[in-house]
Amino acid sequence: MAGIEVTALHKRYPDGTVAVEHVDLSIADGELFVMLGPSGCGKTTTLRAIAGLERQTTGDIRIGDTLVNDLPPAERDIAMVFQFYALYPHLRTRDNLAFPLRAEGLPKAEVQERVDEAARLMRLGPLLDRRPHRLSGGEQQRVALARALVRRPRAFLMDEPLTNLDAELRADMRTEIKHLQGELGTTMVYVTHDQVEAMSLGHRIAILNKGRVEQIGTPLEVYDRPASLFCAAFIGSPPMNLIEVELADGHLRSKSGLTLTPPPNLPRDRSLIAGVRPEALEVTEPGAEGSVPGRVVSAEWLGDEIIYVVDHGDQRDVRVRMPLNVRFAADAPVGLRHTGGPPPVYDASTEELVA
Ligand code: ATP
Repeated sequence: MAGIEVTALHKRYPDGTVAVEHVDLSIADGELFVMLGPSGCGKTTTLRAIAGLERQTTGDIRIGDTLVNDLPPAERDIAMVFQFYALYPHLRTRDNLAFPLRAEGLPKAEVQERVDEAARLMRLGPLLDRRPHRLSGGEQQRVALARALVRRPRAFLMDEPLTNLDAELRADMRTEIKHLQGELGTTMVYVTHDQVEAMSLGHRIAILNKGRVEQIGTPLEVYDRPASLFCAAFIGSPPMNLIEVELADGHLRSKSGLTLTPPPNLPRDRSLIAGVRPEALEVTEPGAEGSVPGRVVSAEWLGDEIIYVVDHGDQRDVRVRMPLNVRFAADAPVGLRHTGGPPPVYDASTEELVA
């Protein structure tokens, strides 16, 4: 097993596209590290550079103690799983698993032992004699994961491996991957554009934007204190409300009068934006203490909770997460109140977290 160090990675494709500007990652041995970001932010390019499938323009990649810049993929001792399973269609599951081991020339008994172990870990017993066309999408993906396992690599690299599965199966496989990684303790780098997947899987998450890392942190850190307005808008569903605020007489207030708890050490003389999570607000009866007047624009039912969209003063479309037992009709006059602790606050011009 091994940690992975990516230093000052830069990738410019021959057509001039700069896919990765400058990426530094320090992934610990045994960590499940997620790279998250919108389409085109450079996740796949970074992962392929780690795998050796893409040569970086500049920058270094180390796996364990080895500088691997000049090593071909096969010599990096990592296993990659893609969203497309790429199983051999004419081979039964057991031979799909054994194939990479036989190719390495491992003795028959060891091939057998490793195939049995991977089959046990991924619960493939009943599927060992089937060919891929007789497996469901989820089963094929389990075989693809098992095929990565048999190689006992130093690290797993996963590029959106669950994208082609339906929602329920995706949630199951997510649990399975997390469990497996915990059991094996093998370093894993997992690429996704799905924040739910990132939050539920990652020990740490790197949020990428336009070829750069915007933030690296635990799921809780990136949720509670997004490092930039980009991260604030990207993480959370619905996302944070971004509200222009000003500090006056020790109070933090929105232009429309909503009072927030100010964080310590707020810089003065700057335009500020507070990031307020929908669960840090409350819709109340009109005129309730500490509330500002508003109006319900719409309500979205999410099973066990409701997301209210509320206008108040100049502030449009503030999203508020409320329990199901609190009901307000569309267009109803209401109050809006902040209930959370100090929100993260951003400099409106640099878009970075300042307090
Ligand atoms: P997605 O989630 O859509 O796969 P991504 O974050 O993985 O996106 P990359 O695939 O790394 O992003 O692509 C980053 C940028 O590089 C994009 O603008 C993409 O169009 C560009 N790009 C990727 N591969 C090539 C290539 N072979 N030649 C030129 N440009 C490329």
